[in-house]
Amino acid sequence: MIEVRNLTRRYGGNVAVNDLSFTVERGTICGFLGPNGAGKSTTMNIMAGYLGLTDGEVLLDGVSIADEPERCKRMIGYLPEQPPIYMDMTPEEYLDFAAELRGLERGERAEAVEDAIRLTGVEDMRDRLIANLSKGYRQRVGFAQAILGFPPILIFDEPTAGLDPKQILEIRELIRSLRREHTIILSTHILSEARGLCDKLVIVHRGNLMADGAPEELERSGGGRSLDVVVRCGDPELVRSVFAELPGVTDVSARTEDGEVFASLTRSEGEDLRERVFDACVAAGFPLLTLRPSDASLESVFIRLTSGDGPDDADGETDDETDNETDGDADDGADGDADADNTGDGGGAREDTPAREEDAEGGGGDESNL
Ligand code: ADP
Ligand code: MG
Repeated sequence: MIEVRNLTRRYGGNVAVNDLSFTVERGTICGFLGPNGAGKSTTMNIMAGYLGLTDGEVLLDGVSIADEPERCKRMIGYLPEQPPIYMDMTPEEYLDFAAELRGLERGERAEAVEDAIRLTGVEDMRDRLIANLSKGYRQRVGFAQAILGFPPILIFDEPTAGLDPKQILEIRELIRSLRREHTIILSTHILSEARGLCDKLVIVHRGNLMADGAPEELERSGGGRSLDVVVRCGDPELVRSVFAELPGVTDVSARTEDGEVFASLTRSEGEDLRERVFDACVAAGFPLLTLRPSDASLESVFIRLTSGDGPDDADGETDDETDNETDGDADDGADGDADADNTGDGGGAREDTPAREEDAEGGGGDESNL
């Protein structure tokens, strides 16, 4: 089990992660969602032991990363946003090297490399230079590196970013196959991916926890799920009015395409509309072509939660956090963390000021969602 408790990480004066707490139960997949700059990679880097924290703690099966970093690192396989793969090695050489770094014994190394190569489907490319592999294969090699020796906790930072649809499906299938034996946390921008793959979602925005729960729970919190219905009929207004009259329907939108009406029905909480929709179609004489739950409500929850300035939005407080990659602050005190980020930040500086910076330099606050 992973427990993140009151985690805070600053870069100089900027708060990248602010008092974040959540847990991931053993054998489940947790999806970490948020717009660019929300603090996902920072949190994952800390969880994987690659970046120091400013405040709070991360516990892996009850063991604190800060207290026992080496033991914790052995429990984790990590696929960073930019996997550290070496272009002038072959996948096999690279994985053998990574297995050695991981501290796997000589005897178990060969088997771990073989298992990883097989599971990620890079057998045919094992002797080619990584420089000559496609993006999809490089990602698989990064993945193979993460699962070497099958550590109990797997952390994947945007594992499907930049892949084509077929590769995305393969990687998802692979992740799904690792569930149960492993505790997995992955970040993604693709909401349908999060919904289809994850047992639980954690939504962050500007370093703050915005929501945490099963996908269905979050959708319910957004005012009910919607249903996509496609019927054959030339008159979208007629379809709209038939569905709008059904008990439990709170909203209907409809558009036409090639003699088919695509309708989206929003329902009030707890209502199952499917049989009513079916019966209404039969009664009105519309051939029913499609009836399926839509992902739109997760999308609307996500957009609602991540389009403001953060959780303090409602009280009118201004929030001037900057999202600049650079920070003006000089190194204001090291706390001995092993920073893997070479972008010139001040290190895990601990400050006594409150987490939310009221007086940070302005600008750069605009973030696009999705
Ligand atoms: P995400 O992965 O959700 O896109 P990040 O964790 O990469 O978000 O970034 C969170 C915030 O921290 C952003 O505002 C980003 O600009 C800032 N940040 C990330 N890395 C650094 C760094 N090395 N130095 C300074 N600021 C950083
Ligand atoms: Mg990131």
